[in-house]
Amino acid sequence: MPDNQLPSIERLASVEQSIVQVEIDAGRPAGDVTLVAVSKTFPVEDIRAVLDAGQRVFGENRVQEALGKWPELREQYADVELHLIGPLQSNKVGEAVSLFDVIETLDREKLARALVAEREKGHALPDLFVQVNTGAEPQKAGVLPQDADRFVTLCRDELALPVVGLMCIPPVDEEPALHFALLEKIAIRNGLCQLSMGMSADFETAIEFGATHVRVGSAIFGARTPA
Ligand SMILES: *Cc1c(COP(=O)(O)O)cnc(C)c1O
Repeated sequence: MPDNQLPSIERLASVEQSIVQVEIDAGRPAGDVTLVAVSKTFPVEDIRAVLDAGQRVFGENRVQEALGKWPELREQYADVELHLIGPLQSNKVGEAVSLFDVIETLDREKLARALVAEREKGHALPDLFVQVNTGAEPQKAGVLPQDADRFVTLCRDELALPVVGLMCIPPVDEEPALHFALLEKIAIRNGLCQLSMGMSADFETAIEFGATHVRVGSAIFGARTPA
């Protein structure tokens, strides 16, 4: 049976197994890596199957889509941890702050200031990852590597935002290991311990390079139909 026709629970089990194996091979403690199951484009029924298999950490890339799916699921599964992994417009920050437990895509001052404004209104802020555009791709979100230190200092030290780590999406046509190594280097020199990197095609490599969070979509849910 081709991979894509396996039920998602079997694919989930196989991804979990690979993660454990790489943790062992890399000499890291079991459970060191958090699997973020990326459920974007998939309907609530598909997500429920993965929730019923015990998975609790999920990623969505659009605020609007997540608002349509997750309030209902959260009522049923109270211990869900939801990550925003797609670009966030500053006019959607209020909605994002109330829906997501983690925002992985903090990448500009305007967004940082909008988060501060939410906090001033009394809203608790989710944990934040700064997204770094490690490949300096013009079309891609994220701060440039050479601006990362300054931006982390602004967000974490000057604005006192809860920055816990860094996130990257390497260029599709380049060796991801170079980008994972760069992200880890930037994290270490800024005293940040969490690294969100690695997707379906390269999460094993990312774990070897120190990922604490891997964002895996199609390897769990199957191929996405293009929008
Ligand atoms: C869609 C997406 C993923 C998951 O990609 P797969 O290749 O399906 O595993 C991970 N990270 C981000 C930011 C995404 O948008």
